[in-house]
Amino acid sequence: MNFDFNDEQKLFADSVRRFALAHLEKDALKRAHDPHFPFDVAKLMSAQGLMGITIPEADGGQGGALMDAVIAIEQVAAVCPRSADVVQFGNFGPIRAFAEYGTAYQKKKWLTDCLAGNAVMSLGMSEPDAGSAVTDLKTTAKPDGSNYIVNGAKVFSTFSPDAAVFLVYARFGPGVGGIGSVLIERGTSGFTIGPPQEFMSGEQWCELHFDNCRIPAENVLLGPGGFKKQMASFNVERLGNTARSLAFGRYCFNQAREHAGVRQQFGRPLCEFQGLQWKFADMAIKLESAQLLLYRAAANADQGLPSAYETAVAKAACNQAGFEVAHEAVQIMGAAGYSKSSLVEYCMRRCRGWMIAGGSVEMLKNRIAEHVFDRRFDQRPLRRQTDAAK
Ligand SMILES: Cc1cc2nc3c(=O)[nH]c(=O)nc-3n(C[C@H](O)[C@H](O)[C@H](O)COP(=O)(O)OP(=O)(O)OC[C@H]3O[C@@H](n4cnc5c(N)ncnc54)[C@H](O)[C@@H]3O)c2cc1C
Repeated sequence: MNFDFNDEQKLFADSVRRFALAHLEKDALKRAHDPHFPFDVAKLMSAQGLMGITIPEADGGQGGALMDAVIAIEQVAAVCPRSADVVQFGNFGPIRAFAEYGTAYQKKKWLTDCLAGNAVMSLGMSEPDAGSAVTDLKTTAKPDGSNYIVNGAKVFSTFSPDAAVFLVYARFGPGVGGIGSVLIERGTSGFTIGPPQEFMSGEQWCELHFDNCRIPAENVLLGPGGFKKQMASFNVERLGNTARSLAFGRYCFNQAREHAGVRQQFGRPLCEFQGLQWKFADMAIKLESAQLLLYRAAANADQGLPSAYETAVAKAACNQAGFEVAHEAVQIMGAAGYSKSSLVEYCMRRCRGWMIAGGSVEMLKNRIAEHVFDRRFDQRPLRRQTDAAK
């Protein structure tokens, strides 16, 4: 068993790091506090071959492996944490499900612009009454001649203030089997985008409202029965979120290590206090162990789609490690770490969100427990109790 990158991966990591140092380091702090999608970075990354790393060359991607995309996130985040969102968008986000299942017409219409860094796509999955219980979603897509009429609302969609097109989970019929997805362009009649609202991280999102919104049948991505496929590719999105959690934690670790080496109190550098040395040891253990789980999930991905269990274990571990390490780094750096002139507090706030987004840590643990006991644990009330309550 070899825990090292191979020569090709080392070369790739090195080239991404050099690209990030040359183009992204300078404005890293400014970028972190700008809520808008950094289209300038997306264009640079497109030219560098960092968009669509795992998307087939025939579709305009690079035809690489999921592990390459993980390496790209790590190397970019180590220099400019915010720019890792562009690697996420171009490789792990809704674009990935879109590239996997989209028709030639759909790809021609939207994928090319997304991969070029000219447009961004947003995922409309969560609803006011369907968060963790995503299959409770109520947004409907009803056939009407050669069109579909969409009604419903979505919340919390990342990049929604800037997105040109939205991948929207919708219900074509009852039950899980009735769920699929459609593509809806900004500006479509009956589609209203609310004013931007802000997460703790400074990221913005808008409510999406569909009121008899008419879309052509060509905009259906996955029809009834598409939910399972959608979720299989959503594990890729989860791994992007996983990789960013870990990379942001490592960014904070490195900043705190540097700080502890030079900052003097009581006439000696902070790193000479055992109380802080043990914090660093615990942080290193968390990062190193979580990283192995991330690499396992990415390296084992069959045809680019990782296993649900390995993804759940990796995401829970990296989400927790990333946040705990970032949080501890703030403590080690004192007011300097808590200050907005450092990216450490920013990374901590971002890591906090990933413990909720894309499958909360609790929902992932539910999934892991099912694997442990090799049985399904229905999260819904028993039918007998529900019936009795009626
Ligand atoms: C930074 C960020 C970005 C996001 N981006 C997007 C996006 O691009 N598109 C999109 O559609 N959505 C997005 N979301 C929404 C995200 O998918 C939801 O927040 C997530 O699914 C959880 O739903 P909820 O927030 O409604 O919490 P709820 O489902 O109401 O859960 C509340 C709490 O209860 C816990 N809980 C719920 N059910 C169980 C259970 N069965 N067992 C144990 N604990 C449980 C949860 O873990 C959580 O801690 C984003 C969220 C965040 C924070």
